[in-house]
Amino acid sequence: YDDFLMQRADDAHCTLALVKPDVAQDEQAVATIIGRITARGYTIKDRVEITLSRAQASAFYAEHSDRPFFEGLVAFMSSGPTVALLLEGDDVVRGWRMMVGPTSPATARQQMPQSIRALLGDDGPRNAVHGSDSAESAQRELGFFFHPRIQAEVEEEPPTPAETAV
Ligand code: UDP
Repeated sequence: YDDFLMQRADDAHCTLALVKPDVAQDEQAVATIIGRITARGYTIKDRVEITLSRAQASAFYAEHSDRPFFEGLVAFMSSGPTVALLLEGDDVVRGWRMMVGPTSPATARQQMPQSIRALLGDDGPRNAVHGSDSAESAQRELGFFFHPRIQAEVEEEPPTPAETAV
């Protein structure tokens, strides 16, 4: 993947889509999401299903580590399977974010009722899907899910004090 990601991810032609644990086990919902992606003309180049560890979820959302919702987000993201999709297509970083809709499903239902979060999201962290917010984020996040070496490094991280204190 090194060459593939280096060549493609910085030109906005590839992005990461996640179907989060609130929806990933709902086969009909996953089919709806995939149907929308392909109907929009994007290609699904790769797919993995993974239940993130707390360390992996924390690493993926590290930029939010000092936000009040971080603990709830990490608990949710490690609560069950996530489906990760490598999307390819013209302007797909921006296009997939448009399909996803606003962060809050309640806001999505008001402002973008056709968006995936309006249709399938709940509230708090349970907003059904994720999309990389820039080509740079896409490159990093695709590596996180589709580059085996990066996966292994995150898995080897020692547990945080919060995890060992249970
Ligand atoms: N989130 C949350 N509460 C908030 C803001 C965000 O639980 O007030 C969760 C939600 O699942 C969101 C994720 O944290 O998708 C990452 O937040 P970000 O601001 O990056 O939103 P996104 O890019 O996913 O729309």
